[in-house]
Amino acid sequence: MQEHITIERLDLKEAQPDPAGQMYELIQKLYPICRSLTGNGVRDTLKILQKHIPLTIHEVPTNTPVFDWTVPKEWNIRDAYIKSSNGEKIVDFNKCNLHVLNYSLPIQKKVSLDELKRHIFTLPEHPDWIPYRTSYYTENWGFCLSHNQLSALADGEYEVCIDASLQNGHLTYGEYFLKGQTEDEVLISTHICHPSLANDNLSGIALAAFLSKHLSTLALKYSYRFLFVPGTIGSITWLCQSESNVGKIKHGLVLACLGDPGKVTYKRSRRGDAEIDRAVIQVLRQSGDPYEILEFSPYGYDERQFCSPGFNLPMGCLMRTPHGCFPEYHTSADNLEFISPQSLADSFSKCLSIFNLIETNAAYVNLNPKCEPQLGKRGLYRAIGGQTDAKAGELAILWVLNFSDGNFSLLDIAERSDVGYDKLKSAADLLTEHALLRPHRPVIAK
Ligand SMILES: [Zn+2]
Repeated sequence: MQEHITIERLDLKEAQPDPAGQMYELIQKLYPICRSLTGNGVRDTLKILQKHIPLTIHEVPTNTPVFDWTVPKEWNIRDAYIKSSNGEKIVDFNKCNLHVLNYSLPIQKKVSLDELKRHIFTLPEHPDWIPYRTSYYTENWGFCLSHNQLSALADGEYEVCIDASLQNGHLTYGEYFLKGQTEDEVLISTHICHPSLANDNLSGIALAAFLSKHLSTLALKYSYRFLFVPGTIGSITWLCQSESNVGKIKHGLVLACLGDPGKVTYKRSRRGDAEIDRAVIQVLRQSGDPYEILEFSPYGYDERQFCSPGFNLPMGCLMRTPHGCFPEYHTSADNLEFISPQSLADSFSKCLSIFNLIETNAAYVNLNPKCEPQLGKRGLYRAIGGQTDAKAGELAILWVLNFSDGNFSLLDIAERSDVGYDKLKSAADLLTEHALLRPHRPVIAK
């Protein structure tokens, strides 16, 4: 029984100097790499992350069965282009890796314009943008062009070349485990399978990397596990290989699309009212910023796997603008200009507040429960906050004293009182210092 666990407050002020700038720089570095479900793009990405955090790189062989799925063949690409009949490269993978249908079969041949058009994807509604398309589970080849590029193609013969390979190899993912004071875990997962797209999901990758780097400097109650996995097949593979461990996961978040200018959106876990759901909502509510809460649905990112009925993990998905809800989604316009260090910083700060809440949430026992203690003689009357905040501080003290009978955690009190969690925690710390309160027990989610 861990009666007294001391937790250093997770404080953004202790963060690396300018994590926002560093996150943005990391994104700039990762942006040109052609990632996919498998292959060297993922490896190169993880190797760059290893310069920031000591993550372990796992390699799972092609054809490994993982629940109802099988680890796919490994895809690698070196070059791709379309040449016109006069030898001019009119589409070049080296200029933009979105030009190739991700997981395209290798091909080198001459084709008519009609045949070429059957393998071209465009976005007529945004004629300057190049779409991002994949063909993971159907063997195909293709190119993605701006609609204007397609319109400019004259009749004639074209040379198409996709210098790629689709062979037995491995699925690669990264894992960083931070040992805390208990075996109970917080699982943070982010997808690493998209090529040059900034918000979806280099923002999630950079955020997870710098959050884990920051947490590694603190004394933590929970152990934290950060996963950098290809979408769907990566989380399925990890779940299959880690099944005996998942009972330790008490809270979790999938991080995606966290660099755009939109408000923060949180999609609840399948459970709907897990402590992580309540913690995120509390943090967003007390931030004073606009936010949106979505109910769970079996569509979206890897929460689909983590929240499948056989696991039903307490994991929600934290985003800014959700996938599909911004026009730039899965296009060349999801670029370095679409995201900003400010949005990344805001996402970082809110994630730390969420971790801070789950780390420190606890129930307390009022040691002077018969009527209110006299605060004035202890110097506690209006002792919290500045002049303008004094009333709120007093209110926080009264709420904590009244509900500290061991049955209510600070999060329970925050929800019931509408006094922000941070104020209640400060009040609880102060009352503990003055021997009016003691922790009842560490609140560890069941
Ligand atoms: Zn995506």
